[in-house]
Amino acid sequence: MQNIRHDIMKRLESLAWKRSSPYCLDCKHTTILAPANVNKCGMCHSQNVTRVLPGVGVGPIEWIIKQFLLESPFDADAMFDEHLDGTKETVTVGNTTWTLSNMLKEAFPTAYHGLRFQFKSTMLKRGLIMRVDSELYWTDDIDDWLDRQQEATPSRNKFH
Ligand SMILES: [Zn+2]
Repeated sequence: MQNIRHDIMKRLESLAWKRSSPYCLDCKHTTILAPANVNKCGMCHSQNVTRVLPGVGVGPIEWIIKQFLLESPFDADAMFDEHLDGTKETVTVGNTTWTLSNMLKEAFPTAYHGLRFQFKSTMLKRGLIMRVDSELYWTDDIDDWLDRQQEATPSRNKFH
């Protein structure tokens, strides 16, 4: 995991552990782990133990975190075009009116790609987006999503 704010990573990790259960790849069941050995299945004693996220799938904790991140994908191409076209500047040549992004893409593809690259790096540097396994995600969206998850997780009823 790269380019990910330390505090967000910590929260993603702790939520991933909380939401998932141990899963034995050999007896294919959510299993109670043998005490004193967190990597050992309590039923068949296999060490082939990973995690399961109910209703989503089976995978290591990194995979579970990835499923959470998928809540807020960042589409660099779409965002960059939106950013360029946000000025509402258009270019009219003859009968054709181009948006800024279309004009750049068609007439100056090299400049377009260079600017898009700069746009992405600036957002990464400012921490507005984060990169995990070459995919980009919105930092604030993930932060908000994590806040909502905390509210959504029912706290244990102390009278039971
Ligand atoms: Zn097992």
